[in-house]
Amino acid sequence: MKKTVLREYAKLIVRVGANVQKGQDVVVNAGLDQPEFVKMVVEEAYKAGAANVMVQWSYQPLTKLDVRYKTLKNLSAVQEWEKAKWQHFVDKMPAMIHLSSADPDGLKGMNVAKFSKANQASRKVIKPYRDQMDNKYQWCIAAVPGEAWAKKVFPGCSKRQAVEKMWEAILNCARANGDAVAAWDEHNKDLISRCQHLTDMGIKSLHITADNGTDFTVELIEESHWCGGGDTTIDGIYFNPNMPTEECFISPMKGKAEGIVYSTKPLSYQGQLIENFSVRFENGKAVEVHAEKGEEALKAMISMDEGASYLGEVALVPERSPIAESGLLFYNTLFDENAACHLAIGAGFTNTINNFEEKTMEECHAMGVNESMTHVDFMIGCASMNIDATCRDGQVRPVFRNGNWAF
Ligand code: ZN
Repeated sequence: MKKTVLREYAKLIVRVGANVQKGQDVVVNAGLDQPEFVKMVVEEAYKAGAANVMVQWSYQPLTKLDVRYKTLKNLSAVQEWEKAKWQHFVDKMPAMIHLSSADPDGLKGMNVAKFSKANQASRKVIKPYRDQMDNKYQWCIAAVPGEAWAKKVFPGCSKRQAVEKMWEAILNCARANGDAVAAWDEHNKDLISRCQHLTDMGIKSLHITADNGTDFTVELIEESHWCGGGDTTIDGIYFNPNMPTEECFISPMKGKAEGIVYSTKPLSYQGQLIENFSVRFENGKAVEVHAEKGEEALKAMISMDEGASYLGEVALVPERSPIAESGLLFYNTLFDENAACHLAIGAGFTNTINNFEEKTMEECHAMGVNESMTHVDFMIGCASMNIDATCRDGQVRPVFRNGNWAF
């Protein structure tokens, strides 16, 4: 891909995505396979006025070595310097940029149970820091094609061709070709008006059905609203956390979900693929899961902690979106979640509660927003999906017909 095009994309991530402020620190999380693009992002962050930019590199083969050779105790430990780093983030509120490039299957063969247990332990230590940062800093997740990832999406191509095709697909789906700033502006306006419409409907519960057997009802929290497009920090800084984003989402009422959902896309969870799976809910809790592939990882996913078997998100995405229309399966949540309706197990979003700025996290949780250390989206949308809303006035109104908006 042309350097000038990539430079514009880096700028879009920094200015429109994370909206880095003058004098703010920036943390970039990236894979070791992206030195050139990371360099561009770092430079654009400094040009936007960043005071300090720090890059945290990751490399899947090293993660695998840690899981293999460290004892569970050492793997779970959060060192004092790491706690000091999190405290520093709490004090400084840096903008966080995550560049997703990893091989969706890159941790295959690793001891999942050990990795999950260690994650569970370390997240518990990190959670208080994260909680203090909630809704207070800007963040953005965007994608960069790693070679292995590109080959997974375009298996028939050479590595070079696959990466080039992935760049085209990523830039197109992220509305990052052409006048990207104007395109994001217009797209956000559309998402915001749909969310407003959904909120105005006063939805009590959604009934979701599809040809594949999905038959599922979920209740919403009365004092909440649908979110989509950009987000605003408590200090009023507007940012776009996901590039791309196509969803209108809400955090449902904890404990109020019944029925079964069938996955319509594979899920890459902690570097492992989970395929053709179903989740059955009773009183809001995932009580039964099956998967043709990766059932062990799926079970680990919903037992990360108490909240991991409850829902944190319901998101509506029409079949008509650049990602869905590309017909590609990305094996990456950022893209696949924006191509289909989805649910997420784990933590809900406190900012879907009305006037959340004036409430404590505990108050939001008491109102029904689920609490957990984890949040994992999984896709259930398809072309035969119908969704009906039972509204608080007792009326039943269509929301989705055959995979697309009914309004
Ligand atoms: Zn989502």
